[in-house]
Amino acid sequence: MQDPRTYLPAADALHERVILITGASDGIGRAVAIAAAAHGARVILHGRNVKRLEAVYDTIVGAGNARPSILPLDLEKAGPTEYEALFNVIEKEFGRLDGLLHNAGMLGERAPIEHYDVPKWLRVMHVNVNAPFLLTQRCLPLLRQASDASVIFTSSGVVSRPRAYWGAYLASKWASDGMMHMLADELESQKIRVNSINPGKVRTNMRLQAYPAEDRNTLLPPEAIVMPYLFALGPASTGISGQTFDCQ
Ligand code: NAP
Repeated sequence: MQDPRTYLPAADALHERVILITGASDGIGRAVAIAAAAHGARVILHGRNVKRLEAVYDTIVGAGNARPSILPLDLEKAGPTEYEALFNVIEKEFGRLDGLLHNAGMLGERAPIEHYDVPKWLRVMHVNVNAPFLLTQRCLPLLRQASDASVIFTSSGVVSRPRAYWGAYLASKWASDGMMHMLADELESQKIRVNSINPGKVRTNMRLQAYPAEDRNTLLPPEAIVMPYLFALGPASTGISGQTFDCQ
């Protein structure tokens, strides 16, 4: 397998692929959405903050790429009705889904388990684990309509190096990676591949929240780590499933 970090996609590598990116309003999701659109994808921008989603929309259209769709949804509050509506909108507009990137995430607090705020724990687990489960389950019929579908979960360094005080975030990333392996195995005989991506240290708001005293100039911007995402979403990774790709 080629190293996803050094992947150089053709300009039309994602031509006409319909790709839903959660948390596309900011940080890594925003950068991947812009890069995917620049390589021909029809991106569906999910997030909470409509103003920020519209700004991403404007950037994509301003660069002369296909008009994205905007899908505002608070993953903390979404229930079966909202997921059903999301399914109906995508089915009506596109009839299929070629890519589903579970990127939206919540850090929660850095605290020992003994003192971790219980409602906050449940919120983090809901956004980082339950939401990708619910979204994947509802989107599977759409992914089955694609000829080369890709589902991507977002991993983290806390999976390879579990350590103190990461609370629900650490538990959620282990659960997310477990779900990736389980789904990859369940879909083995189908045309849907399932992988995880570990972005590494990236200059985003979440990173700032986790390491407020860190020198931000030492971190890569989100735009610098998008290639493994394009690799996992496009034809270069066809047939590769159950893997975690590192961006750094
Ligand atoms: P970020 O800049 O803070 O962006 C987070 C995104 O998630 C935003 O678009 C945000 O939407 C969305 N989001 C959060 N809660 C949401 C909710 N309840 N409903 C809907 N959308 C929600 O974070 P990031 O650093 O790019 O992180 C992206 C992913 O990479 C996360 O899964 C994170 O765990 C992972 N990661 C990041 C790093 C890093 O160094 N940055 C390292 C390892 C893993 P709104 O703007 O609309 O709120």
